[in-house]
Amino acid sequence: MKIHEYQAKEIFAKYGVPIPEGRVARTPDEAATIAQEIGKTVVVKAQVHTGGRGKAGGIKLAKTPDEARDAATQILGMDIKGLIVQEVLVEVAADIKEEYYLGITTDRAARRNIVMVSASGGMDIEEVAANEPEKLAKLHLDPAIGLQDFQIRNLAYDAKLPPVAAKGIGSFLKALYKVYADYDCTLAEINPLILTGDGQLIAADAKFDMDDNALFRHKEMAVFQEAQEEDPIEAEAHKRGLTYVRLDGDIGIIGNGAGLVMTTLDVVQREGGRPANFLDIGGGAKAEVVRTAVDTVLLDKNVKGIFFNIFGGITRGDEVAKGLLEAMSSLNIQVPIVVRLTGTRAAEGLALLEGSALTPAATMQEGAQKIVALTRNAA
Ligand code: GDP
Ligand code: MN
Repeated sequence: MKIHEYQAKEIFAKYGVPIPEGRVARTPDEAATIAQEIGKTVVVKAQVHTGGRGKAGGIKLAKTPDEARDAATQILGMDIKGLIVQEVLVEVAADIKEEYYLGITTDRAARRNIVMVSASGGMDIEEVAANEPEKLAKLHLDPAIGLQDFQIRNLAYDAKLPPVAAKGIGSFLKALYKVYADYDCTLAEINPLILTGDGQLIAADAKFDMDDNALFRHKEMAVFQEAQEEDPIEAEAHKRGLTYVRLDGDIGIIGNGAGLVMTTLDVVQREGGRPANFLDIGGGAKAEVVRTAVDTVLLDKNVKGIFFNIFGGITRGDEVAKGLLEAMSSLNIQVPIVVRLTGTRAAEGLALLEGSALTPAATMQEGAQKIVALTRNAA
């Protein structure tokens, strides 16, 4: 679960992390009032669960309460990466001299938490990691030992932080690690941590992601859980009662049973494709569910083809085929669909599909190869 910057900042503040003075507003007038109370130049920041708000125009400086009202008018209702801005944070604008990056996340491959520090903060840290990896100092943590002072000094040295920052990041990193551990986070980040003109360090942005499986241990966080945090297609899929997870590839995957769908993702990946989603239509799915599943997968405009992998137990092949034919006739489908049907009434299902635009496959692997070939041609 993601929470908003202002919510994360409230929590960081409780852990002693200095943050700019400010409050959240839901209307332009509220933003003006807050700016009035602050009495200095403020920054008005869109509160949405995504980064890159600055680039999207979701962060604006305002010298007066009137300017803050105008900025809030522009930002509230803005669409940032498919998320509509409903709140803005109005806080004292920082006098930024330098921007640094501090983050802790779970490194699954290493089975450890990893701390990262960079003198190139403010920008997209994934870009720094990809293009200038030497600028990102990293350290894996032993959970039994936690984060020690000597490790913090090493990180500051490796990241080539200037002395004032090297000296100051210790308290920030310790608080960050404490928040990360206390809240069962998968990510806790301060980007940017800024050095002001008068030599102060302050967290200008704050972000953390909690492990959903640990939410039962943090009942007080339930208030932060909003439909807004979900990907819009995932939210729509869940409304339609589907078990759907969006991924970042271009091949839509639909199957019955979580194990089969996960295997299908792996096989498509192994054949060189990139799955766009996980979608399990479950056992015994009727034609209407099949149609809805196809429609949902196609909400993702990256999808260049769909691989349907059905192992019929209680799910009947002829029902699936009917659903697919209904989908073909009622939806305007522009992408290739490969179908592998096996098990209960598979023969009847395949007979129904004969003569349609669907491409049959005898096995999962053949299906994966076919959809990868078909979508590659489409690119
Ligand atoms: P993100 O892009 O969504 O991660 O939003 P951030 O809160 O990290 O802000 C992005 C950038 O906006 C920062 O790196 C700064 O360059 C700029 N910015 C944010 N807050 C302030 C501020 O108070 N004053 C000034 N001058 N710039 C700011
Ligand atoms: Mn940021």
